[in-house]
Parts: sequence; C-alpha cells; structure tokens
Amino acid sequence: MTEPLVDRMREFGETIFAEMSALAVRTGSINLGQGFPDSGPAQGVLDAAIEAIRSGANQYPPGPGLPELREAVAAQRLERYGLSYDPATEVFVTVGATEGIASAVLALVEPGDEVLVFEPYYDSYAAVIALAGAVRRPVTLRPVEGRFTFDPDELRAAVGPRTRAILVNSPHNPAGTVFTRAELETIAAVCREHDLVAITDEVYEYLTFDDAEHIPLATLDGMRERTVSISSAGKSFSVTGWKTGWVTAPAPYVRAVQTVKQFLTFTVSAPYQRAVAYALANEAQWVEELRKSLQAKRDRLVTGLEAAGFVAYRPQGTYFVQVDIRPLGFTDGIELARALPEKAGVVAIPTQVFYDNAETGAHFVRFAFCKKDEVIDEAVERLARLR
Ligand code: PMP
Ligand code: GLN
Repeated sequence: MTEPLVDRMREFGETIFAEMSALAVRTGSINLGQGFPDSGPAQGVLDAAIEAIRSGANQYPPGPGLPELREAVAAQRLERYGLSYDPATEVFVTVGATEGIASAVLALVEPGDEVLVFEPYYDSYAAVIALAGAVRRPVTLRPVEGRFTFDPDELRAAVGPRTRAILVNSPHNPAGTVFTRAELETIAAVCREHDLVAITDEVYEYLTFDDAEHIPLATLDGMRERTVSISSAGKSFSVTGWKTGWVTAPAPYVRAVQTVKQFLTFTVSAPYQRAVAYALANEAQWVEELRKSLQAKRDRLVTGLEAAGFVAYRPQGTYFVQVDIRPLGFTDGIELARALPEKAGVVAIPTQVFYDNAETGAHFVRFAFCKKDEVIDEAVERLARLR
C-alpha cells in the first residue's frame, strides 16, 4: 500500500513521549521520560471538577470558553504580571496549550512563511509548522557556564524576508532556561524591527527556581500588541490530563486564532474549565508549595545524576534536567535512551529529537523530576550502575 500520510507529516512518527512511556510500561522501568507528576492536584481543584459535573456543566460551553475561566485568566495575568486583557475579547480557552499553539501557527502563518524556534524545541512546534506548510528556522540554545542560552547574532541572522513569527518557550522545555530580561529584550528588538508575531509558550510560568523570574514577553515595550501568549493548567496545577489551556492576545489576534480553533475542537470540556477557573482564583498557595517541592526535587535529581557521572544542567525552571551523556562514554542519546531500560531500568527522553542540527543535540538526554522522592532516589541508584 502506498503511504497514506500526507508528505508534510512524513517526518513525524509517533511522539517520543508516547514511545518512551510505552517502553517504560513494557519493561517495568522507572519513567523519568514524559513529564507528568506522580502526585495529584489540590483537593479543592478535584472537588471543583466533580461539583461541576454534578451541577450540570455537561453540555457545550461557549466557543471562546466559559466566562468565569476567561475572567480568571484575565485576573491572573493582571495580578501576576500587570498585563491587562479584556476577558470578553482578548482571552479564550483551548484544549491545552498544544491546541493554542497549533491554532496560533495555523491562523497567523502562511504557507512558505518562516517561523523561528529555539532548539531544542518542544515537539509539537515542528509538527504544526509543517501542518501550516511553513518552514521552521532553528536558533540553537547552547550551554554557556552551565545554562542554555542563544547567541543574539545567530538569532538576528536567522531572520529573513519570509520570517513571520517566533515561538518563544520560557521557562524552556527541555533546556530548563528561564529567559532573562536581557534575552527577552533581544528577542523583542528582533520582533519589533522585523514586524514579527511572537507566540509564547508559558506553560511552566509558575515553575521557576531560586531567583529566576518568569517575565512574559508581552510585558516588554511594544510587545503586547504583537504577542499571542499561551499557557495552560496542566503543569501549574498537576492536571496534565485535563488539557485545559488559554490564549491571551489583542482582539484581532484572538479573532484570528479563534477562527481556526473553533474548527479544530469548537470548545473545551466544560467541567474542567470550571475547575481551572477555581484553581486560578484560589490555589496560588498550593502552586507555591508545588514550586518549592519541585526545587528540592530538582536538587535531589541533579545531585544523583552528577554522582552517576553525567554532566547535569541545573534548570532554572520546568521539571526537567538536561544531561550530557559523554562523561559516561556514550555519544548517542537515542541509542542510550532505547538501551536504558535494560541497562538501568530507567526511561529518559533523548532530546536529540528536538533538534534540527541533530549532531548538536546528540549527546543530551532529559530526565523529569516531578516524581516522588523515593522514585527519584531509586532511579539515581539504578543509574549509578551505568559506570
Ligand atoms: N509546551 C511545552 C513546552 C510543554 O512542555 C507542554 C507539555 N506538556 C506543552 C506545551 C503542552 O501543554 P498542554 O498539555 O497544556 O497542551
Ligand atoms: N510536555 C510533556 C513533556 O515534555 C509531555 C507532553 C506529551 O506527552 N506530549 O514531557
């Protein structure tokens, strides 16, 4: 049979997350691959979802999302970042950040346009750019003094006459970088100078460590008017299975992105919208406890990975650690990730798959630390046997 999949999707097989989680199940390994927490959300959030179902929030909600969630998102952006959005025209709800990003790219980028992405990039970016018939232009993040960053000249050099948009993920998965104000100023200057749309992925907005601070790109001079900001509840409230996200942007962008989104899924599960509205308004303290506990887990995992012989890049945000595998004598992260269950009973993500320049990323793999302490401890004990 001839390959039924359209040409532009042929480079995309099963996602690495699905492949590696299946491998973990098949081999009974500890799964530090796909990023999902192994402990539950706040009780109040669970109760809110159950109550929403019981009280009848079970039919189609409005296309742009429940007013109470749009209001909660607007209030959160205002309170946390001083960004003001009209809940009626500048906020709408999506099936996770993933659908927000997909809708934004499909709505704002013409076939043949170029989209800048920082590599390693989250896997769905490449796929939706391809679906849009657009071309991705990677700008590589490289470790400088233990932290992944970009070279401003490389960013500027990546812009061409067809560049339309830039995708900016901070806190960054998988590099763990939280862009500084100076880095964001560089990005903003490029956007202003070349009239680019910025699409931001802020799903780890609450998960920053030490003195790293999440600064939305939209707060920089001249950026609110050209930025489509995207976030979701999954990471902040430990509900990755709820797939409830949101977009904030000036009304014309919201109308454009909403035009696409309405034909992808029309709307988003009503009960989860209610529960997420509750979470945004009431669970800030719970999220702060999560953040603190993740910072301790980060340190626990980094210490263990270093003891096992990896070079570990201590992340400023997210719940992932990138490691360099070469000190242990390995050179190919994909090979190592596939062999790791047998070698050590642990699953990780080879971040090479998030690079266009595969040789730049070949020697990195990513471990997740959103897991119980005893799971992290057992994993690093097993990894210590790799030497
Ligand atoms: N962006 C990044 C960087 C992520 O790590 C994830 C994680 N799952 C997503 C987007 C998707 O978020 P959601 O589950 O809300 O679609
Ligand atoms: N965002 C999660 C990660 O990076 C997984 C998301 C997914 O499975 N698609 O691990």
